[in-house]
Amino acid sequence: MERVYLDYAATTPVHPEVIEAMIPFFREKFGNASSLYSFGQETRGALEEVRQRTADFIGAAPEEIIFTSGGSESNNMALKGIAWTARERGGRILVSAVEHHAVSEPAAFLKKQGFEMVRIPVDGQGVVDLDFIRREIDKKPLLVSVMHANNEIGVVQPVAEIGRLCREREVVFHTDAVQTVGHLPVSVRELNADLLSCSAHKLYGPKGIGFLYVRRGIRLSPLIHGGDQERRRRAGTENLPAIVGLGKALEIAGREMEAEGVRLTGYRDRLIDGLLKKVPDCRLNGDRDRRLPNNVNISFAYVEGESVLLNLDFEGIAVSTGSACTSSSLEASAVLLAIGVPAELAHGSIRITMGKWTTEAELDRILEALPRVVAKLRAMSPLYPGGKNG
Ligand SMILES: *Cc1c(COP(=O)(O)O)cnc(C)c1O
Repeated sequence: MERVYLDYAATTPVHPEVIEAMIPFFREKFGNASSLYSFGQETRGALEEVRQRTADFIGAAPEEIIFTSGGSESNNMALKGIAWTARERGGRILVSAVEHHAVSEPAAFLKKQGFEMVRIPVDGQGVVDLDFIRREIDKKPLLVSVMHANNEIGVVQPVAEIGRLCREREVVFHTDAVQTVGHLPVSVRELNADLLSCSAHKLYGPKGIGFLYVRRGIRLSPLIHGGDQERRRRAGTENLPAIVGLGKALEIAGREMEAEGVRLTGYRDRLIDGLLKKVPDCRLNGDRDRRLPNNVNISFAYVEGESVLLNLDFEGIAVSTGSACTSSSLEASAVLLAIGVPAELAHGSIRITMGKWTTEAELDRILEALPRVVAKLRAMSPLYPGGKNG
């Protein structure tokens, strides 16, 4: 049985060209980039080349890029780094209600430390309330953090507008762009971002590497103290194979992103239309159009998302019930609750995310399997009006 992977928002396979590019940096080019002899110079050169490419990719300058271990570290560094630098200023932090745990948890941690946390509400489509932000910004918060696109429901936020509001009032603006870099055009200038997080394993690069963009002039307290690497903002010997992998992944994204976006949008719309038509009592979560090209998130009444997931897995099809970080717990998704999905319905939700190796044939398979699995589970459910026991 050919397995079908439809969870690209959780992680992506590493592109074969990325693996090829990384291998020499495990073998002959293993030098420490801080060493002065030629082994070090070789890796230092590669490091700075990737830094330049990364900067170019988002319209930044190379000295504005800090390599980190990925999205979680970048987000932690943004929130704690700003909070700890500016403790004396009263300490309000605005965070949207639909952030990834890698933002909402450091925010909760800072709240315990005495910072004031303000949750930015979202509407029923998952879009943040701009008027709320406009009002709150006048109270001069330390930081506003709103993700570029949501990992569960795929909603793309109006970050350029938020960035503009923040810039006008000289409020620091951070955006978690882990779901967009390499998938949608991302320009830190257009977004007016002061801080921006990225992770390589969401764009066909290796796990455990990413970066934080820090606009020139923004003061940030480091999370990891030690050596002088990354201009003393993030200590530790640079993970060169991974950094080179990230660089290659960005290069590939640069040439393929646009066409991929068009192709996946077609797949996404076909899947949404097909499922809404074939399955009664279901709803699409998140705005239909302000949406990542590869994301489908649907709630099915009278079934458990976990049961759907396991039944599909039995047939070799991998989907998710939401964020990979919450799927092992039995709590309903905070994102779905925030957009007003009732708890019972939130429990019956499935996220399908597609990517580079998704095919038409795979779409056909999920379009056949998912309605059948939902119908089977409903037939066994005591709650379903049309079921055996109903
Ligand atoms: C995956 C993800 C993260 C975490 O990134 P890691 O590199 O896995 O730490 C953060 N934010 C969003 C939106 C994500 O999708």
